[in-house]
Amino acid sequence: MNQSIYQDQQIHEECGVFGVFNVDKASELTYYALHAMQHRGQEGCGIVSTDGEKLYGHRGMGLVKETFHEQELRACKGNFAIGHVRYSTAGGSGPNNVQPFMFNHSTGDFGLCHNGNIVNSKQIREKLERNGSIFQSTSDTEILAHLVKKNATRSRLESIKEALNILIGGFAFLIITKDKLYAMRDKNGLRPLSIGKLQDGYVISSETCAFDVIGAEFIRDVLPGEIVTFSKNKVTSCFYTEDTCHKICAMEYIYFSRPDSDICGINVHASRKMAGKVLAQEAPVDADIVIGVPDSSLSAAVGYAEESGIPYEVGLIKNKYMGRTFIEPSQELRDKGVRMKLSPVRSIVKGKRIILIDDSIVRGTTSTKIVKMLRDMGASEVHMRIASPPMISPCFYGVDTSTYDELISAFHNVEEVRKITGCDSLAFISMEGLKRAIGLNDMCMACFSGNYPTELFDSIKDANKETKF
Ligand code: AMP
Ligand code: SF4
Repeated sequence: MNQSIYQDQQIHEECGVFGVFNVDKASELTYYALHAMQHRGQEGCGIVSTDGEKLYGHRGMGLVKETFHEQELRACKGNFAIGHVRYSTAGGSGPNNVQPFMFNHSTGDFGLCHNGNIVNSKQIREKLERNGSIFQSTSDTEILAHLVKKNATRSRLESIKEALNILIGGFAFLIITKDKLYAMRDKNGLRPLSIGKLQDGYVISSETCAFDVIGAEFIRDVLPGEIVTFSKNKVTSCFYTEDTCHKICAMEYIYFSRPDSDICGINVHASRKMAGKVLAQEAPVDADIVIGVPDSSLSAAVGYAEESGIPYEVGLIKNKYMGRTFIEPSQELRDKGVRMKLSPVRSIVKGKRIILIDDSIVRGTTSTKIVKMLRDMGASEVHMRIASPPMISPCFYGVDTSTYDELISAFHNVEEVRKITGCDSLAFISMEGLKRAIGLNDMCMACFSGNYPTELFDSIKDANKETKF
C-alpha cells in the first residue's frame, strides 16, 4: 500500500440530513429531527424551506439549539424543508461550507444538502472551473448543484440522473425545489437514508431515531442508486444506474449512529450488543467486571457481560456537559488528574480485574488514557476487548477515521498495540464475527480490510485521472 496516497485526505463530511414533504411547520419538525441527529455533526447546521412561492433559508455555525430560535424557524416558512447537521475536520470548516446550499437559477431555485464524500470531487471541480463555474464553498455538495445546472435544457430529474452518474463515492443527497423534494443515495448504498410517513406527508432522514422524535412512522430505506421524488399527489422512484449493490458502512453500526436507530432495518443497539456477545465467545478472559466506554460501547459491554456471565458495571462516567469548544486542562493539570470527559468510578474499579469494552481503536490515544486512569484508580488488571476489527485503512466516504499514518493498527500488530496502550490483554472482534453480529454479509468494511467498494482517485490517488462528463 502506498502510504503517501493515504496521508492526503481532505474534507470529511460525517453529517446528517433530514427532509420534510407536505407537513405543517416543516422547519420546526426539521429542527427537532436535526437536534436528534446532533451526534452526526456539531460544527454547523441549516434549514432551507419553501411555501411553494419562494425558498427560505438559515444556516449557522454551532449546535442546532444555538443556531435556531423561534425567529429563525418562523422565517423558514412552508411545509417542505430540508436540513443538515455538519461535522468537518479543519480542512473544510467555515460558514461557507455550512449546508443546505441555496441556488438561484433561471430554471428554478433549489436547495441542496448531503452526507458523505465524493472521491472524484477534485477532478470534477477542476473541470467545471475550467468551463467557467465559480464555486462558493470548498464542500463536495456544491459539485452536484453545478452538474445539475450544467444540463439546464433537460428536465430536472434527467439532469440529476446524469449528474449522479458522474459522482463516485458515498453519499445521500436531498434537493428541495418550490414544488418537489428529491432524495437519493449512492449506488453502493454506503450512507444511510430512510423514508417515513407523517400525517399527509413524508419525512426523509439519515437516521430513523429522528422519526421517533417527531412521531413519524418508518416506511422504507431509499435504495442504492435510487432517486425518490416527492411531488404534489405522488411519490415516484427511479434509478440513475442499474449497477448497484448494498454496501452500507459498517461504522454506522459500530460507532456512528444512535443506538435507537435502525440502519437498513437492523437496530444499532442490538447489533452492538451482539458484537459484545461474539467478542465474549471469540476472546474470553477471566475477570470480575465488564465495563464499557460511554456512550457508544455500552451496548457491546452489556452483550459481553450477558454472554460471559461476568457482571456488567458502570465503571466510567462521561460528563454530559462537555461542550464542543472547551479549555483543555494543561499537561500539568492533567498530570494532577484533572479530567474533563471521562472519570472512573473508584469504588467500582478499585482492586478489580476489569474487562474494558470499546467500540474501536483509531489512534490508540483514548484507550491508552483510559487504561492508565483505571490503573491509577486501583484496577488490578485491565483486559481490553474491541467491538470492531483493527482499523488498518482510512475512510474516503465521509467518516472521519483519521489518516493512514495516524491509524495505530496500520503499523502495529495486536501485541504491539497492547503494549502501547498498556493493558494486560487485548483482542479485537474478527471480520466474520462482526458480520455475524450485525447480521449482514455485504457491507463496506474497507477501513478493516483495505478493500474499497469504489475507485479511489481524487485527492487520494491519481489526480490526473480523467472523469468522464
Ligand atoms: P482513538 O483515541 O483515536 O483510538 O479513538 C478511539 C475512540 O474514538 C473510540 O472510543 C471510539 O468510540 C471513537 N471513535 C471511533 N470512530 C470515530 C470517528 N469516526 N470520529 C470520532 N470518534 C470516533
Ligand atoms: Fe464505513 Fe469504513 Fe467503509 Fe468508510 S471505509 S464507509 S468508515 S466501513
